[in-house]
Amino acid sequence: MILYTLVCDNKHKFESWFASSAGYDKQAARGLVSCPVCNSTKVEKAIMAPSLGRSRKRSAGAAIEANAEAIAPEAAPTEAAPEVKAPVAMMSPQEREFRAKLKELRSHLTKNADYVGGKFPEEARKMHYGEIEHRSIYGEASPDDAKALHEEGIEFHPLPVLPDERN
Ligand SMILES: [Zn+2]
Repeated sequence: MILYTLVCDNKHKFESWFASSAGYDKQAARGLVSCPVCNSTKVEKAIMAPSLGRSRKRSAGAAIEANAEAIAPEAAPTEAAPEVKAPVAMMSPQEREFRAKLKELRSHLTKNADYVGGKFPEEARKMHYGEIEHRSIYGEASPDDAKALHEEGIEFHPLPVLPDERN
C-alpha cells in the first residue's frame, strides 16, 4: 500500500492510496485517478519539495496531518452530471487482494478516529485554527467543502472507498 501525493492540471494537491507504484501507473493510464476537487483525470505524482518550514500555512497543514490524521471520504461525483459513466473493472487476484487491504486499512482508520459525519469540514477547521484539540476524525465532505478546505490549506486524506460501496 502506497499513499501518493498527486497534483492535477489545476494544481490541486491531493493524496490517494494505491496497491503499488505499478498499480498507480495502471490506474492513471486508464484515467481512473481523478482530482477530488475538480474531478480532472490529468493527474501526476507531485514532486516533493524539501520541507523548509517557511510557509506558515504549510506547516499548519502538516501539523494537522501529523497529529490528527483528518480523514475525509473521496469526494462524491457532482450531482450536475447525471450521465457520467462509472468506471468498472474485472478484478484480478491482485486487485482482490488490494481490495481486501483497502478494507482492512479503512476499518483501522475508522476504528481509531471519531466519526463526525457532515460536521467534518467544521471540525477540521476548528482543529486547523487551534480552537479544539487535534484528534483523528473522519466524516463526509461535499466537493464544495473539500474545495474550500483545500483552499484554506487544510490537508485531509481520502478515506478508501470500495467500488461496490459507492452508492
Ligand atoms: Zn483539481
